[in-house]
Amino acid sequence: MIYKNAHQKPTAHHPNMEIKPELVVLHYTATTSMAQTLHILNARRLSVHFVLSHNGKIFQLLDTEKKAWHAGASCFQDRDNVNDFSIGIELINPGFYKKKSFWRYGWSVQAGRKWGNWPRQQLNSLNTLLLWIRSQHPQCKHVVGHNEIAPGRKMDPGPLFPWSKIKRYKI
Ligand SMILES: [Zn+2]
Repeated sequence: MIYKNAHQKPTAHHPNMEIKPELVVLHYTATTSMAQTLHILNARRLSVHFVLSHNGKIFQLLDTEKKAWHAGASCFQDRDNVNDFSIGIELINPGFYKKKSFWRYGWSVQAGRKWGNWPRQQLNSLNTLLLWIRSQHPQCKHVVGHNEIAPGRKMDPGPLFPWSKIKRYKI
């Protein structure tokens, strides 16, 4: 499905396979701009269905019924290869502080590290998008962090991510 309120930025990096999404996986980009994010996705030949900018703009790279390459080695409820049945959303956020990182929304300390704050307009946009996804894909019943399907390997969306403000489709 194509979300008509999103800016369309089609990607070539996907296997052109149909999927029936059952969950949404949230990521942070570890970048601070859209240009940087697209550059990295292309350089690594990765894809994701949506990228949400810090100011709430939604970019769609791939139809939600096509398989993207965003989760890597992963497992959800005893099923491997989560890319086969998930929608991936990248949220532009720097993750944890690295030398020279600039993030206009500031940082907060959590678990011994500084993490980029989450701007409200981005979270609002995410909730709008999640509702649209659920309306198009009634069988899509979960919203999880990348860390939950690749524990020990991935940390995103990070310890500061405000899950309590996100519509997690409590069935
Ligand atoms: Zn991720």
